[in-house]
Amino acid sequence: MDICRIPVLSDNYIFLLYDSARSQAAVVDPAEAEPVLAALESLGAKLVAIFNTHHHHDHIGGNRQLKQAFPDLCIYGGVGDRGRLPGQDVFLQEGDRLQFGDRPAQIFDVPGHTRAHIAYYFPPIQPDQPGELFCGDTLFSGGCGRLFEGTPAQMVASLDKLRNLPDHTRIWCAHEYTQNNLKFALTIAPQCLAIQGRYQEVQSYRQAGQATIPTWLDVEKQTNLFLQWDDPALQAAMDTTDPIQAFSRLRGRKDQF
Ligand code: ZN
Ligand code: FE
Repeated sequence: MDICRIPVLSDNYIFLLYDSARSQAAVVDPAEAEPVLAALESLGAKLVAIFNTHHHHDHIGGNRQLKQAFPDLCIYGGVGDRGRLPGQDVFLQEGDRLQFGDRPAQIFDVPGHTRAHIAYYFPPIQPDQPGELFCGDTLFSGGCGRLFEGTPAQMVASLDKLRNLPDHTRIWCAHEYTQNNLKFALTIAPQCLAIQGRYQEVQSYRQAGQATIPTWLDVEKQTNLFLQWDDPALQAAMDTTDPIQAFSRLRGRKDQF
């Protein structure tokens, strides 16, 4: 399975999964149809699936047009998003499994950004292969999604599921927010060498016009404050010893940043 990144709108990524043996493709969160159709054309691939993570327009905007172009394709999304995902065919929940090409995937319920948000995780099928996580607007590089429909406790539980995946997992977040997230992180933890180093790296990527996505789970565990609710250093910075409150206050500070 090859994964291509298609930048759309101001800072979204559509991810195109390509099974070259079968000339079949799937897309994660198609904000728009045209760039997907162009990519399929150049690959000579047929679109067989859309994997939606949640109902926001910048993740589903291309659903209808892609289904018109490929009437047999199957649109997957969370069961809790029934009625909110155009053309949805399959209603997924925690623990469900699906297959694309030679790669099985498992579904996580990750509410918080929205109440029905799901993530798609493709575990490695060979020893040295990375896992692939498509997490929409739940986990970003250096950050996490805003809490539109969920509580801090829900988001912490969701992020904890993702944090428990193997370190050697690539994180395909739906937005290029990394630079700003790390700039914020340095206002909270200015002395953190890991965050400083990551910020330098990300700045040079962006200056060269390169994407910072995918990121790696082990990098995020070291540099993403939104995965550190149980770290005494973050709790001290947030003036609390309660992990949920530390997360909640951090999220509140970011909302004001
Ligand atoms: Zn969203
Ligand atoms: Fe989004």
